[in-house]
Amino acid sequence: MPDGKTHLRLRKESRPVAWTIIALVEIVLTLYYQKFTYLTILFPLLTVVGYEMGDLLSPDLDQIGVSNSEALMMRRLGPLGALWAGYFMLYAYLIRFIGGHRSFWSHSPFIGTGIRLVYGTWFMWLGLWWYRVIPDPTLYMSMVSIWLGLSLSDGVHWLADIEDTK
Ligand SMILES: [Zn+2]
Repeated sequence: MPDGKTHLRLRKESRPVAWTIIALVEIVLTLYYQKFTYLTILFPLLTVVGYEMGDLLSPDLDQIGVSNSEALMMRRLGPLGALWAGYFMLYAYLIRFIGGHRSFWSHSPFIGTGIRLVYGTWFMWLGLWWYRVIPDPTLYMSMVSIWLGLSLSDGVHWLADIEDTK
């Protein structure tokens, strides 16, 4: 099984390809809509941020125990990271009920990615709703951009896992 370090390395090595895909999509969209605003820069930047978040929000958070991502969280974020890691241990337990480690629900790009993102941000949305802040479309599109980038990173991870089980 590719360990966390292998996944980190693969994600880094795939970075030029991922960034190129993001840039190309962006160019095509800009040409298609013939519009250039600050969003033309913001959304692809957030997609790159999503891709780079692959370290911290890795599909392997579905493993019971301290995965590479959790160790990284604690190292980078201190006590807050420990809290976050603990919260994701609960995620691992929950995922166990619907397939466990490497299941479709935790490892598939887009869907598994979406579930992890929702699990990691629902309280933010609840807070916005609680304070009656109506999130504007830019906020939604920003989330979608992050989700797309993280899905790309999860895609690299998923391919490595498949290659490994062959
Ligand atoms: Zn994996």
